[in-house]
Amino acid sequence: MAKRKARSNENGGRDPKSRRGVVSPEEIKPKTTDMHWGYDKENGPQTWGHHYPEANGPRQSPIDIDPSSAKFDVILANNPLVINYQTEHNLNVENNGHSYKADIKEESTISGGPLGSSKYKLVQFHFHWGRDDKCGSEHTLKGKMYPGELHLVHYNAEKYKSFTEAVTQPDGLAVIGVFLKVGTIDHEGFKVLSDNASKVKCKAFKTETGLDLNPNNLLPENVTNYWTYEGSLTTPPCCESVQWIVLKDPISVSPEQIRALRNLCCDENGSKRIIENFRPPLPLGERELRSSFQL
Ligand SMILES: [Zn+2]
Repeated sequence: MAKRKARSNENGGRDPKSRRGVVSPEEIKPKTTDMHWGYDKENGPQTWGHHYPEANGPRQSPIDIDPSSAKFDVILANNPLVINYQTEHNLNVENNGHSYKADIKEESTISGGPLGSSKYKLVQFHFHWGRDDKCGSEHTLKGKMYPGELHLVHYNAEKYKSFTEAVTQPDGLAVIGVFLKVGTIDHEGFKVLSDNASKVKCKAFKTETGLDLNPNNLLPENVTNYWTYEGSLTTPPCCESVQWIVLKDPISVSPEQIRALRNLCCDENGSKRIIENFRPPLPLGERELRSSFQL
């Protein structure tokens, strides 16, 4: 196994336990980026709209996907997604207190399908999951949840200089959603992630895995069948800037692999698990749900 960097946190690597009993005002006050939101009753999805008004908007995600109501679009069928992902060397993984996330350093892009000729650059991917196999995905399929969902987040590099610039623009982002189901055997591509999850058990922990991963290895074999619609980020500030591409085929991980996600914690001491981190579906409303394939 390659050398790994020591755990670090937002306090520059100091162990939060060593400061136990000494509470400064900075510690009582939540950090701006984390203020007000989580997945508990008091700060969960039902409350996000109070502090992030866009969460009450007409173009929110996730949604329930009813395949029979999706409109087959022949243009999508004739212009498949072009996924050009590069291998990430020494993949970095992180627990941000809300999810398990990997940042992308390489020039990995997608285009085609609903994105046309514009290139969208991959910036990070992360996961959503639930307390057991009955829940966890954000998008649902005719009301059914999968045990998890992977989100590969891209920004429109053709029009915008950075993710930050793109995140507020209606054509700023594209996210590929991949459902996770639980089978009996390990998913090879997911192994780098599940094997390293325990090293970032607490919020704000990051680690270099020392391992390579091509994000392609997290996709199902068939990427030609998907649903697409105009939506939003599923976490605050819930910006309405995402072209969603939800793949029809799930990937399959083992029970141990999904447990690695469920063992992550949302606090800096590792005493509170991220039991679930999915936002329930919101109305499709006036929006159109298109599919690249015929039923
Ligand atoms: Zn997500």
